[in-house]
Amino acid sequence: MNWRETSREAMHWHTNEQGTKIVCDLCPRHCQTQPGQMGFCKVRGNVDGTFHTFNFGKSVTATQECIETEAVNHYMPGARILSLGNIGCMMACSYCQNWQTSQIKHLNDAHVFEYSPQQVIDLALANDIKVISWTYNDPVVWHEFVLETSKLAKAAGLTTLYKSALYIELEPLRELIEVIDIFSISLKCMDDAIYRKENKGKLQPVLDAIELIAASDRHLEISQLVVTGLNDDGTDAIKTARWMREKLKPEVPLHLVAYHPSFKYKKPRTELATLLKLRELVINEGIQYVYLGNVYADDMSNTHCKSCSNLLVERFGLSVHVPGLDADGKCKKCQTPSVIRHALAGQPERKQVLAHFEAVQTHSFTWNDEIRSVHIFLTNPQKEPVQIKLTRLPQGSVQYLELNEGLERIILSKSSADESELRLEAACQTPLHILPVLDRAHFPVIDETKTSSYA
Ligand code: SF4
Repeated sequence: MNWRETSREAMHWHTNEQGTKIVCDLCPRHCQTQPGQMGFCKVRGNVDGTFHTFNFGKSVTATQECIETEAVNHYMPGARILSLGNIGCMMACSYCQNWQTSQIKHLNDAHVFEYSPQQVIDLALANDIKVISWTYNDPVVWHEFVLETSKLAKAAGLTTLYKSALYIELEPLRELIEVIDIFSISLKCMDDAIYRKENKGKLQPVLDAIELIAASDRHLEISQLVVTGLNDDGTDAIKTARWMREKLKPEVPLHLVAYHPSFKYKKPRTELATLLKLRELVINEGIQYVYLGNVYADDMSNTHCKSCSNLLVERFGLSVHVPGLDADGKCKKCQTPSVIRHALAGQPERKQVLAHFEAVQTHSFTWNDEIRSVHIFLTNPQKEPVQIKLTRLPQGSVQYLELNEGLERIILSKSSADESELRLEAACQTPLHILPVLDRAHFPVIDETKTSSYA
């Protein structure tokens, strides 16, 4: 779609004293624009003296993911979420993992779909998804759509999640705190010089914004992408830990997340040994809950009871089990309350064998050292309900998935160290594609607009 053709008046702007330019007050960049000019994010601009948003409702394909995909480990473990991501960004990270949509000059219009706020709610409800996630490239520049849809989501009894680098002014953030339940914040580093050079932002406004959330009752988790050669020597991890200890509640977790080469930054993927070293450093600094992201290693993303060490939540890839918690979030072994909110509300209900399941197409994917997640992708303009039988090999465990109301994409990942292959049987004529992704990234390593079928 040509998303540039429609726009609507934006929130948070004023005209300068001379009356010659509009100043945008949404993010700390405060772009000043004359008629016909766009701001740095390239999705907000001056239309004849009024400031407009051009990306209202414009998103990449909505995707069913798991709450842990968003670096959220202490809220509804294992919950299925509906992820939407807009276009444009108020920052420009040299290693951006979603640069195909965050940096407008690289945008392929075929990746852009339009949703109304009500359509997003209907999509979640039709697929029995309890959490709507604003994610991928940053939701800050999608402010109007996020606010309006989140209000509807709250009215419909849904939970809202905001995954962001949080380069935002405090007034719009206060509006978000009213309607967002979970904030998962990507704190890039603790070095303002790196923020300016590699992220095209500044550190202090991000810290101020995180503190504002911390002062509210909203759920907060912090993640930090550990980028090879940028923030991986331990200095930054220690600064982050000390700042968190001073400013945030002790139960706020820190996710240290492995990066992969992307956009302009081509240094190698983060080594597991590096993450383990940083993990030890921040634990020594007093951070109580530290998780490693994009890592398929035993016990690096599990949650244990602080009192008796009982395994409370077990995670591998995007498979999550809650063996050690009761419905009140207490340790089953010693009854100590945990920090996990809504402990059992997100546990996937296993579908029973469907009575009339008849496979029309079969696909498979073999995991390798590089690829441990895939998108299951369907182009489904007729919105036909789709049933998929998923078998994990060699274990042979079977799970049934259903996609309704035109939901086109689900992310799946390797669920145990010895799992070698996924086998998918679909009871629909709509062609199904398995698209490999790096580190649960939003874009597969194969261009989905060409929909080449894998296997
Ligand atoms: S939101 Fe966009 S237009 Fe507004 S100040 Fe930030 S980058 Fe500039």
